[in-house]
Amino acid sequence: MENRKVRVRFAPSPTGGLHLGGVRTVLYNYLFARHHGGDFVLRIEDTDQSRFVPGAEEYIMQCLDWCGLHPDESPVKPGAYGPYRQSERKALYRQYAEQLVAQGNAYYAFDTPQELEQMREKHKTEHHQAQYDSRTRGFMRNSLTLEATEVTSLLQAGTPHVIRIKMPEHESLVFTDMIRGEVHFDTSVVDDKVLLKADGMPTYHLAVVVDDYLMEITHAFRGEEWLPSAPVHLLLWQYLGWSGKMPQWAHLPLILKPDGNGKLSKRDGDRLGFPVFAMDWTDPRTQEQTVGFKERGFLPEAFVNMLAMLGWNSGMEQELFSMDEL
Ligand code: GLU
Repeated sequence: MENRKVRVRFAPSPTGGLHLGGVRTVLYNYLFARHHGGDFVLRIEDTDQSRFVPGAEEYIMQCLDWCGLHPDESPVKPGAYGPYRQSERKALYRQYAEQLVAQGNAYYAFDTPQELEQMREKHKTEHHQAQYDSRTRGFMRNSLTLEATEVTSLLQAGTPHVIRIKMPEHESLVFTDMIRGEVHFDTSVVDDKVLLKADGMPTYHLAVVVDDYLMEITHAFRGEEWLPSAPVHLLLWQYLGWSGKMPQWAHLPLILKPDGNGKLSKRDGDRLGFPVFAMDWTDPRTQEQTVGFKERGFLPEAFVNMLAMLGWNSGMEQELFSMDEL
């Protein structure tokens, strides 16, 4: 990669309170940017309307503020590129989705929820896996299987449809992760993921690639749960002709339950007597309250220090680090 100014991002979905793992992801991005004299960008990934929780965006901002992890560019502090709220950038994503269709790397799919359900049932018995891919797409209603004239009339009639990526049948993809080293994928086990939903919103897969490119992100530290999505993103970077600008990824290990069995949850925190959220959070839909480190009387410096030391050791006797030292 040519010498570019380091730019990292934290890209939360406003779906609830900010838990320990989320703050740790911010911290790694933030410290990396500070260390390299780069920019730390906050991007609100609010394209999944069904999971949108009112107040979550403001809550995330307040948490970052309390932790002292201030973004250089964000929806509340617009910079040269801001504000970044994906729901406000819909037209942009559609343009790239259509470009992919025109190039033959993506296609329209008109299947109804019932048809998809039937496909899943059929596929489960035949392949033990429910997937929309090269094996199943042939009998579904999409622009790869329908006549061109039929596709045009379906589109003209405003028939609900999504745009899916066309995964190669058998291709080996590889990238170098900053933590895991070389990671290989076989495209034959990856679904033709939806890129643009019927409501016109992009999915995470499309939006993350378009935005990381347009925002000139050079390094992306994100939770390990996104590793299975990496092949879709790798292909999108290729298909859109942007591979040379792809950020270096670091997939961070998750904070696990004490027995190592799955992600740390609120219930584990309650059981062990410590919060799992940075600040108090009340879910506006259920009124369920979750206590935070702040309200328990922890200083933000202590909280951040604890997260930095989780899974990392400086090799020195020193136990307390200032943000600058970190
Ligand atoms: N919106 C995603 C999340 O909330 C971001 C993942 C990423 O950093 O790429 O986890």
